[in-house]
Amino acid sequence: MLTRFAPSPTGELHLGHAYSAVLAHDAARGAGGRFMIRIDDIDGSRSREEFIGASLADLAWLGIDWDGDPVRQSARLGAYAAALDDLRSRGLVYPCFCTRADIAASLSAPHGPSGAVYPGTCRDLPDVDRERRMAAEPHCWRLDMARAVTETGELEWEEMGQGRRIADGQAHGDIVLARKDAPASYHLASTLDDAAMGATHVIRGADLIASADVHRLLQALLGLPTPLYRHHALVCGPDGKRLAKRDTAASLASLRAAGIDGRALAADLAADRLPTGYSLRKS
Ligand code: GLU
Repeated sequence: MLTRFAPSPTGELHLGHAYSAVLAHDAARGAGGRFMIRIDDIDGSRSREEFIGASLADLAWLGIDWDGDPVRQSARLGAYAAALDDLRSRGLVYPCFCTRADIAASLSAPHGPSGAVYPGTCRDLPDVDRERRMAAEPHCWRLDMARAVTETGELEWEEMGQGRRIADGQAHGDIVLARKDAPASYHLASTLDDAAMGATHVIRGADLIASADVHRLLQALLGLPTPLYRHHALVCGPDGKRLAKRDTAASLASLRAAGIDGRALAADLAADRLPTGYSLRKS
């Protein structure tokens, strides 16, 4: 068994991250398995080096130990590019020149599990237009979902303890696999990394449950194994809303500064006991 915790170094870790890390760590260690850290730092404009060291210090304070060096997504860009090349050579991705405003302005843009479904404006551009615009305009790369689904057929993945679920890729539309400003999207990088790390169980927040449909589809397209998934409840603050990076009172750094014992906190979180005022919510 191998699990992982994958923080994005865009802010301080808070109680919600601690809960996620403790569940993933304890699940692996309880089964005699391995636990790894991945740093999701491909978003160059938002990632900050100082948050990496701070996050690792927070995890150590919780008594969490990990195997090997943390894996940094910024060191894996070649793997993302190779996968994208593979999909490109199979006609499964296309360049998209639309801006956010273009997409928002499309009256027909419906909403899917992960936001606006791309209306397909750039899907069938003639090759000559594509070549010309690629040389001159910023573009992302989108998965041609209809073709992808035709290639894979119906897929399933398993939520631990709850059984199998149909992977509904179609509901997400033509998702972005490589961004204008980053060489891979979360979906592509995370799917490739989980496979490369050998993650057998992906344990993460319920806010990411819809992503499993997309990750399952990418696994099928790229010939990768499928882990088991557990999407756990989210930690909410005294206002009943799920914690966000701005909730500094819940940051692990401030709890540590207040003299809280990290290992005792980790033991409480493992038993779903939260500090006063905090609660768990499934979505
Ligand atoms: N970096 C992602 C996040 O912080 C983690 C996603 C995952 O565990 O797959 O939301």
